[in-house]
Amino acid sequence: MSIDVPDMATLLQFVPTAQYGDTIDQMRGCDVPAPFTPADTAPRGGALHLSSVLPALSAAIGAPTTTAVHKEPAELAAALGIPEARSAIVVLVDGLGFWNLKMSLGHAPYLRALLHDAANDRPISTCSPSTTAAAMATFGTGTCPGLTSMTGYTQRNPLTDEICQLIQFRGAPHPEELQRVETVFEKLAAQDVRVTSVGLTRFMASPLTRAALRGAHYIGKDNPLGRVRAAADSAKEPGLTYLYLRDIDKTGHAEGWRSEQWTTTLEKIDGQLETLRRLAPHGTVIVVVADHGMVAIDLERQIDVAAEPQLLDGVRMIGGEPRSVMVYAADGADVDMLAARWRARLDGLAWVRTKNEAIDAGFYGPVSEETRQVLGDLVVEAADDVTIVYSRTQNELAMAMPGVHGSQTMLEMDIPCIIDMV
Ligand SMILES: [Zn+2]
Repeated sequence: MSIDVPDMATLLQFVPTAQYGDTIDQMRGCDVPAPFTPADTAPRGGALHLSSVLPALSAAIGAPTTTAVHKEPAELAAALGIPEARSAIVVLVDGLGFWNLKMSLGHAPYLRALLHDAANDRPISTCSPSTTAAAMATFGTGTCPGLTSMTGYTQRNPLTDEICQLIQFRGAPHPEELQRVETVFEKLAAQDVRVTSVGLTRFMASPLTRAALRGAHYIGKDNPLGRVRAAADSAKEPGLTYLYLRDIDKTGHAEGWRSEQWTTTLEKIDGQLETLRRLAPHGTVIVVVADHGMVAIDLERQIDVAAEPQLLDGVRMIGGEPRSVMVYAADGADVDMLAARWRARLDGLAWVRTKNEAIDAGFYGPVSEETRQVLGDLVVEAADDVTIVYSRTQNELAMAMPGVHGSQTMLEMDIPCIIDMV
């Protein structure tokens, strides 16, 4: 029995705000407001969350490691279906959403075969916002954006009171100063567990690696087969290996996820994963996850804040990204009035919450005082295929990307967690 793919209209609807912890808090229920119809009202998150993956793997390899939001690593492993193993290889395929994959399975024979196992044929949830900087830190620390202070593609830098970017850390604080939560890699290494990270040479000491994934022994390899070989080789020694594959996201942004180029990229990635499976030593568990999915946008429905006085009034800065916008109010502006104006203008086009509403909903998980300082006064999640840009600071190329992510729709939030025991 495989689960059916909903129609595109449903996939572009919001899902309930995912919760953090070892179990799903049933009391939360569905918080998708009118006029939106939820894609599905089942609570999201708990053990079935990106933040659970590394704590679960730590238990699977016999070195259970807790985090600020996950106290029961063995239960997480059981909930995710991860068996005990000598070694684990976790592969993060950037941008490969669960439904993006399900709709393209004809091009991914290795993953398709694994999805025949009902235990693999279910999505787990990424964090909000569904974007790489936030998700990598959530994954790497086994916590949440509310604690890592990495809350979007761009956000306020409290040191300069300006917008900074969290992929290359342009205008940002030092990675170790911004993201202070100990990573799962660091915690495992402190227990003398082997932790290996394999990726492009230039990401070895990149700001994002230092912030979200520090603590592993990094092996830089610039060709796909070299990376797969290095990952498989490292698994000969018990411990944990992390392999990052970026091309699906890159192609999805540039060409759209329904393009021929995207499909070709998926075929290549599936081939690399199949090779990894073939080369990995017996007793290794391989787990394939992603940081978020991807939606195809309708440029005709794009809203430019810079061209809308009703939106711009009382706004000092715009952060986040086109699918998940953070609005920073001008000094003295009335945030409730600002929220009311944004709601009126974006009725049916975006889910507008104030900072406190988003925090109370558990959008960022538990939130530290440091993180409060970087968050916008409004958190605006784009609906359907809408994008909300700000042409004063965003460049044309970024505003015209056919594939994006960041919002709370089913297509962006649901990610795979596919397990293969070698
Ligand atoms: Zn991306």
